[in-house]
Amino acid sequence: MDPTTAFLIAALMMLLNGGVLGLMHGDLPAALRPSAISWRIGTLLQACGCILFAVQQFMPAELVLPLGNGLVMLGVAGCWRAMRQFYGLPDRWILLLPALLGTLGIWWFAGPQPDFIARIVIASLAWCVMLVAAAWTVLAATRREQALSARVLAGIFAVLALFMLLRGVYFVVMPGAAGTIVDRSSWINALTPMLAAVLPVIGTTGFLLLCSDRIRRQWERAASTDYLTGLANRRTIAALGAQRLAQAARGSGGFALALVDIDHFKAINDRHGHEAGDLALQQVARLLQAAAGSGDLAGRQGGEEFVVLLAAAGAAQALAAAGRLREAVRAQPLQLGAAPVAITVSIGVAVAQGEHSLDDLLRRADAALYQAKAAGRDRVELG
Ligand code: GH3
Ligand code: MG
Ligand code: MG
Repeated sequence: MDPTTAFLIAALMMLLNGGVLGLMHGDLPAALRPSAISWRIGTLLQACGCILFAVQQFMPAELVLPLGNGLVMLGVAGCWRAMRQFYGLPDRWILLLPALLGTLGIWWFAGPQPDFIARIVIASLAWCVMLVAAAWTVLAATRREQALSARVLAGIFAVLALFMLLRGVYFVVMPGAAGTIVDRSSWINALTPMLAAVLPVIGTTGFLLLCSDRIRRQWERAASTDYLTGLANRRTIAALGAQRLAQAARGSGGFALALVDIDHFKAINDRHGHEAGDLALQQVARLLQAAAGSGDLAGRQGGEEFVVLLAAAGAAQALAAAGRLREAVRAQPLQLGAAPVAITVSIGVAVAQGEHSLDDLLRRADAALYQAKAAGRDRVELG
């Protein structure tokens, strides 16, 4: 295929892919939309640049070369910006620098000082810098978020950077290989538009996968954590508790459960308002989580009731752990303006004794909690 046709087909594919992304735009969560818009603008700019490359014979070189290259390079900058926005990184004017310097250089070596090799080297360098930066953005963020789609996208950026580098080297070491990038005599000229289309075409699919991966993770988090306190919710506690109970029944590690209930919580709501009540719940959640051991897991069971799954070998260890939870909450009154409000909790503890149902254990903990309340609150009882 001759390079001119290849550039036109590449442009068409980029436009179609940008269109697909446009169709999906409404389905993306608001937080991902700025990044998707940048990616689409990047795709559109690259498509416009490719069209100019295809028709470059019909326009003056000093106009079409800086314009076409400038658009394509700005497009790559758009994809790099999209990655930064995706990971919540701020905009920086320096993002435009490689594209601007590249365009300026190409204008100089197209008009005042025509030099094909210099133009190739400048374009290759500008592409490389932006693609490596985009890959770096993704990889640095992926250390936290282990998404396969992110690694695929980083790989696409890296492979393209490598291709642009090798292409630059090829033209430098093979002088006379071609006079323009649409010259049919060079095989690399036929390959360039195809590889240039990788980012807006395959890259867009990668970008959409990245978005769907982020959405899935957010849903998973929302379904497994409590909205107010950020602790594990009842569903998670039930699943993990059942798992740990089964492990304990098989004899691998001890397991106990602490049911924690805030004392006279209704009074906090009544005296200081529902918002103060929410603050109290958040503070107790924080304190329980901090006081729980590394093998323990704190969750919110509902209302002002929490559960801590304890990796405790026996009653003495479980009671000591529950005692630390009670002390931790008691030691830190809730600061509401000038008046600190004392918060205490009552705790019912149940140690696994080979039962197979978490509900049985919860019932025992609940009975112990009832005893703790009846005995005056701010105490721990064993069920
Ligand atoms: P006790 O010492 O016997 O446990 O008394 P209590 O007042 O803590 O218990 P009670 O069951 O009488 O009241 C619990 C209150 O918790 C009633 C309900 O309005 C409040 N509550 C439940 N969920 C929330 C919440 O998410 N936010 C706030 N602010 N209050 C809540
Ligand atoms: Mg209560
Ligand atoms: Mg209660």
